This record gives sequence, structure tokens and C-alpha cells, in this order.
Amino acid sequence: MTKMMMAAVLDAAETIVVKDIPQPEVGPRDVLIKVANCGICGSDIHSFKTGMYVEPGQVMGHEFVGRVAELGAEVTGLSPGDRVTGFSAGVCGECDACKAGQFILCADLFQNSTGYGRPGAFAEFVRIENAELGGNIHLLPDTIDDTAAAMIEPMSIGVTAAASAGVKAGDKVVVLGCGIIGNGCIQAAKAAGASEVLAIDISPLRLKLARECGADDVFDARTGDALQWVMNRFGAAPYHYNVGGNADVVFEAAGIPLTIQQSLEMVRPGGTICIVGLPEVPAPIDTTKIVHKMPTIIGSLGGDFVATIEKIASGAIDPRPLATHRFALGDAPAAFAKQLLVEESMKVMISPAA
Ligand SMILES: [Zn+2]
Ligand SMILES: [Zn+2]
Repeated sequence: MTKMMMAAVLDAAETIVVKDIPQPEVGPRDVLIKVANCGICGSDIHSFKTGMYVEPGQVMGHEFVGRVAELGAEVTGLSPGDRVTGFSAGVCGECDACKAGQFILCADLFQNSTGYGRPGAFAEFVRIENAELGGNIHLLPDTIDDTAAAMIEPMSIGVTAAASAGVKAGDKVVVLGCGIIGNGCIQAAKAAGASEVLAIDISPLRLKLARECGADDVFDARTGDALQWVMNRFGAAPYHYNVGGNADVVFEAAGIPLTIQQSLEMVRPGGTICIVGLPEVPAPIDTTKIVHKMPTIIGSLGGDFVATIEKIASGAIDPRPLATHRFALGDAPAAFAKQLLVEESMKVMISPAA
């Protein structure tokens, strides 16, 4: 007889239904995890609002922690009861990106991965297919509690962005947008030795959390000119026919046209802009600044779980202040409603174990 489990299913845009569905079956190379906690991601909210990324009937949720409940016969290195996190990435293994080892660029990734195509972790159980310890499933040390563990995936975006941007000791850094991704950039930049990190947002809650999590100063962009504020703090840097900001590295994590333009104004000549925000509309940009300042402009997608687990375990970064609310699985619709209230919530957790 098929075992059933409770799950939160996205039936249509803005409609989450909690119901019983079949528990995932465990193949010889799979691991079934009893979910303790799963955070609601910005991409889950996009899907919830618009139906984007997923088909009706999707169980979303990819920011989870839990305990191994069942193991396939061929899985090595894990035992029932182990605390783990993970992500089944449904890459094709055959495209040019996959052959080059750049799995994050595989076009299949968002169609066939945990919470995108494959069932996610807003459920009592989630399955990691073809489990590979240290690859798509990770053992967690006791120093990382279940709250922090459910934020390894979102924090890994900032950790990888800071590494890709080459943040180093003494750098002057600006972070535009202080949602969970921007907050991760702030923490990772500090952990990488940045001498000063300035954070800019328009939400008092996000600015408060940015400061709590290590930003040296914060600015509410509703109160004045953010570029001028950055120039007051980091100094002005002349470039051909103009004067602009003097930041070594700018992280664009707000994802709006204005902040994308500001990133070009705030970076120093020869500095680095790392774009992690996802604007819903294209941004008009002044490419003359790209020519005259010659910044390195990079995009960063996805994150390194192993590096992030190390940084959280050592205390170099701490996402726990970001978990503002927690709901039982049966209250998943209310959890999504709370996550939509950006003035009140940062990271809302759904706890099937509660
Ligand atoms: Zn996420
Ligand atoms: Zn591929």
C-alpha cells in the first residue's frame, strides 16, 4: 500500500492546498528525509504569485533540513537519523555547460530539481535522488541548529557571490538590497575581510537586520541620495569627465532598474559589480560608465553548500536573526501570506516536524 504524507501543494497561482499525497518512493540510490524545517524562498513567492517556474500540483520548498528516514541499498556514508540538507539538481549531464562542469548553467536545472519539477520540502518527507554525500546531500554538524540549517541554501548565494567577486581584506563594499540574499552578501563580505560594508534598502526591518548581521552602516534610500551617502563614506573617485563612488565591490541584490544603475555609479574605476538581484523588467544602463570605469561585471547564480556549511559552523556567518516566523505545515497558506508582508517578515519557516 502506498504510504501517504502531508504536503503543501501549489494548485494554482495564489492557491496553496495542504493535503495528503503519496510519499516519495526510495530507489536504490535515493535518500528519504523527514523534513524538520523548510524556509520560503523568494523564488517560491514568485511561483506563488504568478505560477512561474512550476506546474500546478508542485510541492515547492528547497531550503530544508531534516533527518534521514530511509536509505537506498547503494547509498554510502549515511545512516538513518543523520541530520542533513541537500538539493537534487536535475541537470542533463550532456549539454556543453554540464560537460564543462558548470551544472548551474544547465537549462534543465529549474525544470527538474528539488522544488522545481521534483517534489520539494514543504512536506513531511523529501527525496534526494542519486544521493552523493558532499555533492547533493550534506551532513550537518551539531553546531548548526535547525533554524540556521534551513538557511544554508539562501546564504550560499551570498557566500558564492562574495567569492566570485573576489572580496578581500580591506575592501570597501556596498550592498544594494538587504533581503536574505543581500544579507548573505553582507555577512560573506565581512567574513572575507572587507574593511567596511555599507548596506542600502528601503525597509526598516531589513536595514535593522543588516546592521545586526554585520553591516558597518546602513542607509534608508527613501531619506536621500544613496550615491551621495556612499561618496561621503568611501570618498569620491574621479573617472573620465565625471566623479563617482569609490567602492571596491558593489553587490546588486535589490533587482530593480534604479539600483542596477546605481551600482555603475558607486563602483570605483576598475572595481567589481556582482549582480545577484533578479529584476522583473530590464534596466536601462549608461554603458559609457562601463567603458570609462572598466569595472568587472559578473553575475552569480546558485551557491556552494560545503563552503557555506563551514562558514556557519565556524560562526563566520550567522543567519539565525533572519528567521522571523515559523508555521506548522498545516498552516502553509498562512506562512506564504506572512512571507508576502515584506515589512514584517524576512524568512518564514514551515516546520513539518512541529
Ligand atoms: Zn532559495
Ligand atoms: Zn546540462
